[in-house]
Amino acid sequence: MSSPEVFPAAGYPPPGDDLQRLWTPHRMVYIGGQAKPKDDAPASCPFCGIAPEDDELRLVVARGVTCYAILNLYPYNSGHLMVLPFRHVSSYVDLTPQETTELATMTQTAIRVITAVYRPAGFNLGMNQGEVAGAGIAAHLHQHVVPRWLGDANFLPIVARAKAVPELLADTRARLAAAWPPSPSQDPHEEPS
Ligand SMILES: [Zn+2]
Repeated sequence: MSSPEVFPAAGYPPPGDDLQRLWTPHRMVYIGGQAKPKDDAPASCPFCGIAPEDDELRLVVARGVTCYAILNLYPYNSGHLMVLPFRHVSSYVDLTPQETTELATMTQTAIRVITAVYRPAGFNLGMNQGEVAGAGIAAHLHQHVVPRWLGDANFLPIVARAKAVPELLADTRARLAAAWPPSPSQDPHEEPS
């Protein structure tokens, strides 16, 4: 029996390979860690002290009384936002009862709004507690709300560690903010309890 024919590796892949390039230079800030706060103090925290007049620029979608919603700068999918307390607090068990309630109700509102705007097939909700658990900004608790579509975890993120996000963040913010119902804090006729 003859041995199988062996082809030399030279020449593979062909000189003009057919890989698609997805250029995402903005992600270097994330990969290189420059976007990480220098310490855990509120003064260094990207989630603290956002002035209401900067909501559009800073991608704040909605404000409640104790909590607010902001787009994720490095989304897994279009519409990926976070609900979080205004207060600089790292642990879920340290939320006040009012913060706990509003975090939950704003998460429900986020699901309704994203559903109305983007019609996803499902959601991932979650909080990473501590850097070891995957929290990018561990010092300031935030709940991820990630819309999911069938096939959105295809070969691209799994094999290439890249994620195509088809809509610019400013456009996502505008669509979600427009669909978000007014909160009690924004209604002059209703005092927050
Ligand atoms: Zn903070």
